Parts: sequence; structure tokens; C-alpha cells
Amino acid sequence: MPTYDHDATDTDTDTGSGSTDTVTVLGLGPMGRALAGVFLNAGLRVTVWNRTPGRDGELVARGATAAASPAEAVAASALTVVCVVNYDASDTILRQDAVTAALKGRTVVNLTADTPARARNTAEWAAAHGIRYLDGAIMTPATTIGTPEAVFLLSGPEELYGEHRPVLDAVGGTHSHLGTDIGRAAAYDIALLDIFWTAMSGYAHALAVARAEGITARELAPFAQGIGAILPPLFEEFAADVDDGRYSGELNPITSAVSSMAHIAGASESHGIEATVIRAAEGQARRVIGLGHGTDGFMRVTELLGRSRR
Ligand code: NDP
Repeated sequence: MPTYDHDATDTDTDTGSGSTDTVTVLGLGPMGRALAGVFLNAGLRVTVWNRTPGRDGELVARGATAAASPAEAVAASALTVVCVVNYDASDTILRQDAVTAALKGRTVVNLTADTPARARNTAEWAAAHGIRYLDGAIMTPATTIGTPEAVFLLSGPEELYGEHRPVLDAVGGTHSHLGTDIGRAAAYDIALLDIFWTAMSGYAHALAVARAEGITARELAPFAQGIGAILPPLFEEFAADVDDGRYSGELNPITSAVSSMAHIAGASESHGIEATVIRAAEGQARRVIGLGHGTDGFMRVTELLGRSRR
């Protein structure tokens, strides 16, 4: 992780390019605090602001400057990192007249999670106000920030990313610039969180069904990890199937998969446990079979879902 030496008498508050040793963090939830903390560790001059006062105590004790307003905060650095709950919140902060004016010529990196459409809308707003803009997503928990495990996705103008990379790299981990389409980081974020949350929903459901059968969560957990470990190679194999449009069901045809899903749904419903998620997956599989693809594998569902878009 790079560290920065700066002259304490230097009151540089450049806009745009130039200052690489200052950063402002807007939003001091668990993630914003983690980001500000590692920026401090790296020796940057960090200015912080949060809607609710009092969340900056530890950061200020470690040398961060607490700004009295978001406009004052963004004026202190060439680069502002925003990390709040969603884009309604980031819009509420950034689109105040005084903040927008203070940001002119400076760079905003929005690491708040939301949809690709919101990222594109924010980029349009930024361009209209002379604000340089990168969008990003953080794919790992706040506890990983500053460690090699942290994963950051970014999109937007490549030269802007290159310019601010020395500061952004201070947060550790891996950084992937996914292209100039500003919505791309959010699009990856949505796709990856789709996997995460449907898996979490499946796990919560599995634990409820297991408990109804007298199996504790702790008893199931090691076996759950085993099921989880099967997935990474399948992700790669099925990605090739989907990109190539071939959905071989030689080893596990969708007719077999649908039978397994029906057992899960039936067992949970017999305990009075709703089975909406697995019933939805079973329904998709049955539609694929109905379309004449019963010998294909489950990933043929991707085509079915794509069809409903048209
Ligand atoms: P939250 O998602 O709970 O966001 C809390 C922050 O949002 C606080 O600073 C809060 O201010 C601010 N906020 C909420 N509503 C408003 C509003 N209307 N106006 C101004 N500020 C508002 O906490 P996190 O820090 O955990 O997450 C921040 C972002 O990071 C989210 O988009 C999240 O999805 C993403 N992320 C978080 C991870 C984590 O491990 N925590 C992992 C990966 C991504 P206040 O204190 O005043 O309420």
C-alpha cells in the first residue's frame, strides 16, 4: 500500500488534477469509516463528512479533518469518495447547490451501491456541472478494506481513473477498471449480488427446512460449505456454455434437476415452510422442458429469462 508524505504547511486545495495527497470521504457508515481509516493509514490528508454528526470521532482523533458541511468537505480535496446507502442519499448530498458548485473541476468517485441506470444518471448530472466522475462498487465487506482481500470495481473515463489511481490504490485489494461505460461497475455489482442474495435466500431456506427435520444450523454448516465449494468450477464451465449457446445436459439434464427441486419444495411445504424461491426455479425449469429442451442442462434457463426481456 502506498504512503504519502506531505508538508504540514501545504494548504493546497487544487481542483481537478494535481493534488494526490488529499481525499474527502462523504458518508461514514461502516464502509465509509473503513475507507477513511485506510486513507489515513496511507498518510493522506483526509477530510470527512457524514449527515449524522458524531460518526467521525475516531477518524478525527487519528488526524482526519471534520468538515462542517458537505460543501466544505468537497472543497478540501481534488478527489471526493462518496459511500452512502444508495443514490437517493448520494443525490441528496451532491446535488445541493453549494456542493455542486464546490465540486466543479474536481473528481467524484461514487462507491455507493445502486443500479447502472442511477450511475449513468449521476454521470450525466456530473458532466452537466463540470464535475469529473467515476463510478464504482465494492464487492467485499468493510472488514476487508485495506487488505489484499478487498475488491473494487470501477468504470468511467480511463485517464481519470489513471489520474486518481495512486489515491484509490491506498484502499488495498484488487481494482478492476471495467471500461468507459459508466454503468458497467454497477452492472457487475448487480449481477454479482444477484448470485450472493439468491444464495443467501437459499441458505436461509435450507436452514429452516433442516431445523424442521431436527438438524441444527451448526450441524449442516460443514456440508453447506461442501456444496458451496462445488460452485466455483461450475460458474466457469456454465459461463462458457452460456456464451457459446450450448447447454449440454449430458451429466445432469434439466428433467433430473426439476425432480430434485420438486423434492425440496415438497419437503419444505410438508413442514408448512414456504417454498417460493425454489418453486420459482422449478417453474423456470419446467418451462424450459415445455419448450422442448428437456435434455439440456439447467443453464438453458438463461435463454428463457433473456426471451422474456424481448
Ligand atoms: P449503509 O449502507 O448503511 O450506509 C450508511 C451511510 O449512508 C451513512 O453514512 C448514512 O448517514 C448515509 N445515509 C443514508 N441515508 C442518507 C441520506 N438520505 N442522506 C445522506 N446520507 C445518508 O452503510 P455502509 O457504510 O455499510 O455502506 C455504504 C455503501 O457501501 C452501501 O452502498 C453498501 O451497499 C456498500 N457496501 C457496503 C459493504 C459493507 O460491508 N458494509 C460491502 C460492500 C458494499 P447517517 O449516518 O447520517 O445515517
